[in-house]
Amino acid sequence: MIFYNVKVIKENEFSQKIEVKLKIVIYLLKIGNISNTILKNLEKDLKKTLGKFIDSISLLPNIIELRESDYVAKKKQYNGSSIIKQLKSSNNKHNLSSTLGILDVDLFKSKLNFVFGIATNPKHPFKDYPGSAIISVTRLRESFYNRPEQKDLFRTRILKEAVHEIGHTIGLKHCNNECVMQFSVSLTYVDEKPIGFCNDCTEILEDFTNRI
Ligand SMILES: [Zn+2]
Ligand SMILES: [Zn+2]
Repeated sequence: MIFYNVKVIKENEFSQKIEVKLKIVIYLLKIGNISNTILKNLEKDLKKTLGKFIDSISLLPNIIELRESDYVAKKKQYNGSSIIKQLKSSNNKHNLSSTLGILDVDLFKSKLNFVFGIATNPKHPFKDYPGSAIISVTRLRESFYNRPEQKDLFRTRILKEAVHEIGHTIGLKHCNNECVMQFSVSLTYVDEKPIGFCNDCTEILEDFTNRI
């Protein structure tokens, strides 16, 4: 993977040109009705897991409402591809920011009859990185499968899916190693993969963050 140097040049108060390192910022955003505890725990867990690569992770105070037009009654699900279009990453001279929307409704995406999450697939290192992503917690709950709830397991699954989708927004692809970037076709896959990145993915991320 090739990353370009995206340091910006600014003039300081003495009119000297200086290089400024851009910050990578992740915003967490509630979409529709979802418990605050889930969001607060996720913010805390992401800071612990991604603090090495990301400069700032924060929960936005606003909420995006779910639109009726995104609901498909026949499937009893929301169209994830259409919801993610409402999220925009805003890159400017000071930071590369990405938004992760968190929902508690069941999602589908084109031919996939359900998805745990969706991320944009950035093509241009500066213009498109980071992108945006959404995750749904609905299918990560044991009760969705009529099993007794397991709070810690639920929290870990949300963290894994969030790290995975954020990984995509900063340029990572699916990975076959023992790695959070493994593609999860079912909940078993989510449970089997680790929370962290493998050495290959860590190297790509470090390369990316060192160059910006
Ligand atoms: Zn993925
Ligand atoms: Zn990996």
